[in-house]
Formats: sequence, C-alpha cells, structure tokens
Amino acid sequence: MGNDGGSIPKRSELVKEKKKDPVADARIQTIARWFYCALSKTLLQVPVVADLLGTLYNREAILEMLLDRSRYGDADVICPHIHSLKDVVTLKLTPNSAAQYSHTNGTTLMGADESAPRALFVCPITKREMNGRYRFVFSRQCGCVVSEQAVREIEEAHCLVCNKPVAPDDYIPINPDAEQLVKLKAALESRKKAKVNDDGHINEHGC
Ligand SMILES: [Zn+2]
Repeated sequence: MGNDGGSIPKRSELVKEKKKDPVADARIQTIARWFYCALSKTLLQVPVVADLLGTLYNREAILEMLLDRSRYGDADVICPHIHSLKDVVTLKLTPNSAAQYSHTNGTTLMGADESAPRALFVCPITKREMNGRYRFVFSRQCGCVVSEQAVREIEEAHCLVCNKPVAPDDYIPINPDAEQLVKLKAALESRKKAKVNDDGHINEHGC
C-alpha cells in the first residue's frame, strides 16, 4: 500500500506513538476503532462486516482468519466468538462523498482541521459522518448502518434505509461504550445458548 503524503498514518504507526497524553491516546483509540479493521489493522474498505459486539472488520480479513486462525496472530483474543461468516453481518454503508478516499492505495485524506481523518461513511438519514464523534448502529437483520440519532428520532418498525422489518433489539451499536458492551456480550451468550437448544446435538465445545 502506498503512502501519498496526504494520507493518514497506518494503524501500526498510530499505536507506536507515545501514549502519555490521555486526550491524544483517546483520539488514537477512536481512529483505530472507527477507521481500521480490528483484525488486520488495515484501513476499513468495503465490504466491511461487524460482529454482534459492534466491532468492525474488513470482510476479507475475516475470510482469511476463518481459513487460518493464526493468520493475524491474535484472532482468539480479538474475535474468539467468530467461527463462521454467520457470526458477522455485512454492513450496508453509505460512502461519504466528502472523503477523498483512494481505492487504489486504501488511504484517506485528513479533514480540514487535520485533527481527524474525514469519515469514509455517513448516516444516509442525518448525513452525520461516521468518525467516532457520533453513535452509530447497524441492524442485524439487514446490515444497514445509520446514526443512533436517526433511529431515536424516527421510531419505526422497519429499517429506515431498506424498509425491512426491524425490532429495537436488532440494532447493534457500533464500537459500543463499556455499558453497552456488557449488554451485547450477554445477548450474544443467550443467543448462543438458544442456538444450542435449537440444534439439540451441539457438543460441549460449542462447535
Ligand atoms: Zn436495512
């Protein structure tokens, strides 16, 4: 991957930065979570998938990991709950027309104030940029991604984007806060148990 000078640093370069300043540290963490695949640490590039804990990945990285769990070294730490493509949802993202994104070298230019890169994606309803400043959710029924504000303001039993039926608990927060993460983990566990009961013959390894 090339670096055209105006591009944001790679995730590995970001995490090498000294982390003495808590504000700078939080900013780096935010960029890492919202712009980079949690597994391959490369810039997010469609098709992007999310797990039911709201973590973002490049679909390609997940496919590679499923073929070889040691491909990215830390798969069993980052996504021990992903065992097949059924454990992730392919996201339907709305590209940000303001982002100068290069598909050839997978980089994006910094925003005007240089404090953060321009978001690659926006909410199709509110046009808010998906840059970590606003909460976003996706529907696990259809994968459509919208800002939480849109879902809150327009209470609908159907997806605001594709009109598929969607229940409130079908919305998964992207990069959730600690409190939301506890709830998502509990929901993941109970779905896993429900699946075991459905399948009946599942062994104790949960395979
Ligand atoms: Zn939808």
